[in-house]
Amino acid sequence: MTSEKYSGERIRQEFIEFFSEHRHTFVPSSPLVPGGDQTLLFTNAGMVQFKDVFLGTDKRPYTRAANSQKCMRVAGKHNDLEDVGQDNTHHTFFEMLGNWSFGDYYKKEAITWAWQLLTEVWSLPRENLWATCFKDEKGEIPSDEEAANEWKSQPGFNPAHVMYFGRKDNFWEMAELGPCGPCSEVHFDRGLKYCDMKQIPGHTCQVNGDCKRFLELWNLVFIQYNRLSPTVLEPLPAKHVDTGMGLERIVSVLQDTDSNYKTDLLFPLLRATQVLTQHNDVEMEINLTPYRVIADHTRAATFLIADGVVPGNVGRNYICRMIIRRASRFGTNIGLHDPFLATIAEKVIETYGGFYPELLKNRAAILSNLTREEERFTQTVESGVAKLENLLVKLQIGDKKILPGEQSFDLYATYGLPLEITRDISRERGMEVDETGFREAMEKHRLASGAGEAFGSQGGEDAEFYKDLLADLEMGRQLGQEGVQYNPYEWIEVQGTVLAMVSQGETIIEAKPGDWVEVLIPRTGFYVESGGQVADNGVILGDHGETWEIHITDVRKPVAGAIIHIGQVVHGHPKTGEPAIARVDHQRRMDIMRNHTATHLLHAELREVLGDHARQAGSLVASTHLRFDFTHPQAVTPRQLEAIEASVNKRILGNYDLTIQYKPLQQAISDGATALFGEKYGETVRNITIGEPEIFSNELCGGTHVNSTGDIGLFLITSEGSAAAGIRRIEAVTGTAAYELVQKRFKILKRSSNLLETSPEDLPSRAEQILDELAEVRKTITELRRSQARVIFHEKIGETKLIHDVAVMAAEIPGADSDILRLFTDQFRQRYPTGVIVLATVNSDGKPSLIAAISEDLVNRGFNAGELVKHVAALLGGGGGGRPTIAQAGGKDASNLVEALASVSVWVSEHLNK
Ligand SMILES: [Zn+2]
Ligand SMILES: [Zn+2]
Repeated sequence: MTSEKYSGERIRQEFIEFFSEHRHTFVPSSPLVPGGDQTLLFTNAGMVQFKDVFLGTDKRPYTRAANSQKCMRVAGKHNDLEDVGQDNTHHTFFEMLGNWSFGDYYKKEAITWAWQLLTEVWSLPRENLWATCFKDEKGEIPSDEEAANEWKSQPGFNPAHVMYFGRKDNFWEMAELGPCGPCSEVHFDRGLKYCDMKQIPGHTCQVNGDCKRFLELWNLVFIQYNRLSPTVLEPLPAKHVDTGMGLERIVSVLQDTDSNYKTDLLFPLLRATQVLTQHNDVEMEINLTPYRVIADHTRAATFLIADGVVPGNVGRNYICRMIIRRASRFGTNIGLHDPFLATIAEKVIETYGGFYPELLKNRAAILSNLTREEERFTQTVESGVAKLENLLVKLQIGDKKILPGEQSFDLYATYGLPLEITRDISRERGMEVDETGFREAMEKHRLASGAGEAFGSQGGEDAEFYKDLLADLEMGRQLGQEGVQYNPYEWIEVQGTVLAMVSQGETIIEAKPGDWVEVLIPRTGFYVESGGQVADNGVILGDHGETWEIHITDVRKPVAGAIIHIGQVVHGHPKTGEPAIARVDHQRRMDIMRNHTATHLLHAELREVLGDHARQAGSLVASTHLRFDFTHPQAVTPRQLEAIEASVNKRILGNYDLTIQYKPLQQAISDGATALFGEKYGETVRNITIGEPEIFSNELCGGTHVNSTGDIGLFLITSEGSAAAGIRRIEAVTGTAAYELVQKRFKILKRSSNLLETSPEDLPSRAEQILDELAEVRKTITELRRSQARVIFHEKIGETKLIHDVAVMAAEIPGADSDILRLFTDQFRQRYPTGVIVLATVNSDGKPSLIAAISEDLVNRGFNAGELVKHVAALLGGGGGGRPTIAQAGGKDASNLVEALASVSVWVSEHLNK
């Protein structure tokens, strides 16, 4: 079934090689978590990592690129989850082959190369290939005759195989406004036998006819316009090409199978599952849906975990949890009860590890996360499913068809049953779930639990403003094409002219003391916040003596080429065009650099002590401290923390030099550098290594660092805790802050030992000794109080009154505790077999406590100690209760105690008369 000639791996490789031969730069797949793009949950197309280039906010050192991109479509607009497993073509995770031109080649080359690759390299029959081109049904945008003519001129292309379609099929837009253009798709005719709609009246068996005969193979997008409004298109000065071809689909065509799951990319996963179930081929065929879901979801989860997404409760982590649980449940349906996904994931790693080395690198984390999540799920799933089935039966009895959202959310929150699984099970019973209601309930819960918004706003609204400003300055030759020169690594102080000042979205000529301004100068050493390192502070001064001064408290980069200093004028009147000096606060910067280098050391030691799974999940490098989040399933033990802190300090004392090199991303990765998930890297990366001769820290990092580790001085961990499910957080201080912390601790120690009249060394044993003495003293006091209480009780019991045949005692016993009050009521009952007693005491906080007891015979006559104690406590502003024979209560205010106790006799009389 799978031919040796066209393995999936070889097809991927041939695509990349073909375009490399045509001078394309191979750009490795960006992670599934899009770097720097908060609007997207997962990378869902090859162009995601190039979005900035199309928008004109970023540049690349190459103009032609090719790659195979990892993609996920499991949430949001592009969501295939419900179809996954039901058919042979839908996936949550898939690979997208693509080639790009950024203002370089255009339609002629894109179409010629597509044709050559398909027909010459891969030998697809020319007669079976079709091309679609754009023709606007509204007649507003010109038809793409250029593309149509290119297709017709390809050798062996049947000119009758060009078809035209409108905006829905053949016009691509990134968003409502912005870059857009016509696209042209290549379709493959698999032959009439593949048509699954022959019986359907009115079916036209043709391209885009919705049957399985024609497969769309490749989409070539020609970005030539910029949409300014719903009706206005402006031609782009530089035209781009963006193409996409699903790897699974082209492999299924070249391997001549009718299912992506039968290609050598996925079939090994089905076979691995079959080994576990011991099904024969017919049994597997009958249960194909579970097999397909397990293969698809395990592959997706494996890639997600490799990119640092572990199972959890919100956002991406939720998706990871949901697909693992869904795969686990489908496993249950075919008799797999023990954790089994790790076995399937081994096959994924084997199949894909050659091209995606992150799978090999994170193998241990992948396998352990899968198994742990399956175990967590099986612990709760049975009760969750039982509860759901109960709910469904009740709804069916009530003739209802929809499970309310609140209830499905409750199943998730209480039993860990993801919505998607609740939906699967409900559908198996012919019911639906109110998904909007589920999301509303989830949102309510999220807000209530203070989890905050899952995704922040994208910001950068003034990018257009600064783009225009840069263009003006470039035209006036005040700035070069590259924009502001930026070198935070070498420049602490630079001179330059004030090119522009901006206040409230407008450029201004002059500012006055107190004004907040954004300042643009031709070069700067101020660091722009990135990679967790905070922006620099400092000053911009007038260069004519001390004429004016702006305190800079933030720096930002609204668009490529612009670096904006934000600050307040403290004196003088800065003017555009005046010479200035921009000076970074050096002391603060040194503190930041110590914390940054220490962060790298900490990261390396975490992996050393805890294991390779301890990967960075977030980082803050400030001047005061550093904060580091990393994946680790349980708390770091005090012993491990001690070991980590000690090793970091050993590295500091070793005074190792830092080596900083610029090299191509691929080379850095193969040299062993740690790339961070969620981080966006350019072609050339900055590689920071520490250690000689053996390198112990190797990271890609754009931050500023000390020259050698000794500069850090001292490293102290101040806290360890949980940041999120499966993620721990360490906070630490270095240098100045560490010294201050030690000073503070020493002072406290000294003061404490002075107070306890001992030396710091003997402080613990002295404290123990004092605590022992204190316990002794407390015991003695309790005993004294009790004997005093006994004396008082024996005095007061003599004042017991008789009301008819009932003995009544109500008294305050100062200094008593509840244990001894209970003992006194027993003594009272022994002396008076028919009696009512209420005892009170005032606690050290000034609040009264009460105990009431009533003999059995009176209980039989309708008396109740619970009622009595409530009655008395109510007069003291409190409440309580208990059994009919004995009850306790507390009050808020003791000032009414005498009256409250006096009310006991009245209460007894009233009850006797009833
Ligand atoms: Zn058909
Ligand atoms: Zn770094």
